[in-house]
Amino acid sequence: MTDECGRTIDYLRLSVTDLCNYRCRYCMPAEGIAKRDHREMLSIEALAEIGQAAVHCGVKKIRLTGGEPLVRRGLLELCRLLRAIPELEELCLTTNGALLPQLARPLREAGVDRLNISLDTLRPDRFAAMTRLGRLEDVAAGISAAEAAGFSHLKLDTVLIGGFNDDEIGDFLALTQAHPWEVRFIELMPMGPCAAWEKSCFLSAETVLERYPALQQIEPQGVARRFRLPGAKGTVGLISPVSHEFCGQCSRIRVTADGRLKGCLHSAEELSLRGLHGEALEAAIRRGILQKPRRHHLAEGPSGTPRTMNQIGG
Ligand code: SAM
Ligand code: SF4
Repeated sequence: MTDECGRTIDYLRLSVTDLCNYRCRYCMPAEGIAKRDHREMLSIEALAEIGQAAVHCGVKKIRLTGGEPLVRRGLLELCRLLRAIPELEELCLTTNGALLPQLARPLREAGVDRLNISLDTLRPDRFAAMTRLGRLEDVAAGISAAEAAGFSHLKLDTVLIGGFNDDEIGDFLALTQAHPWEVRFIELMPMGPCAAWEKSCFLSAETVLERYPALQQIEPQGVARRFRLPGAKGTVGLISPVSHEFCGQCSRIRVTADGRLKGCLHSAEELSLRGLHGEALEAAIRRGILQKPRRHHLAEGPSGTPRTMNQIGG
């Protein structure tokens, strides 16, 4: 279905939990977040019902996210329920990868088509420092497990952070020479804990092109501009929500793990879907799509949402 700005909305990012086994410094506070009563959060059945209703409203692709989706109990059942929706073209999942050694194969068997794995650094000490609780070797094992389970064309999502990982761009590009993966550099967005970080942390994705002019442009995909190094097996994506605002092409809506529909990541506007079923649920989703904000205002200041990224679903 199209929104009031004429954008086709066919992509739902569905958050299954706000909890996480990591505490990435830009995303979550060091102490984590208080576990909320499970009655405040959507059940697996409610998540599946929202997915189904969204598909009736024109959604063709669902991405499960969080928090960390792999810590959510009942996730595999949810994947099976969503995969059984005939009109759903793609079921994807974004994960920090730590639990993929155990879960990659069951996720594949439950019908997940594609995986994005977040990986901000290739250095074990930096990884531990940024995630506070993570070990790089677990993610490396997760990537291997995902490939062994049949997930091809993995996407690795790297948030570009000045003074933290911008000296590793070349190492990430080298990964695309050796593997058929897409490494996607994503601009850090000023929200949650990182909203107060120094300006120098917020790099434009253009930095990648300036430092590596050999990158050759190929066809874009969604909001990602894409490139390839000559002869490389894999590709490079640049996602520039801050420097190249792509609101005019945005096809997404989001639903938080506590059942709020958000038309824009950076808006405080939310519409509750909790307790709605059948036609009332679909009518609310249609209303949320119609009311999707025209654009974000990151160029003028920090994100307008009071939520941290793990409480929305990145
Ligand atoms: N836990 C999973 C993971 O890390 O992949 C899924 C949820 S996480 C919130 C989704 C993505 O959002 C991750 O790739 C993370 O790096 C990214 N993210 C979180 N905060 C961000 C920010 N302020 N700016 C840009 N990306 C951010
Ligand atoms: Fe967890 Fe993902 Fe946020 Fe890191 S970015 S704290 S892995 S939700």
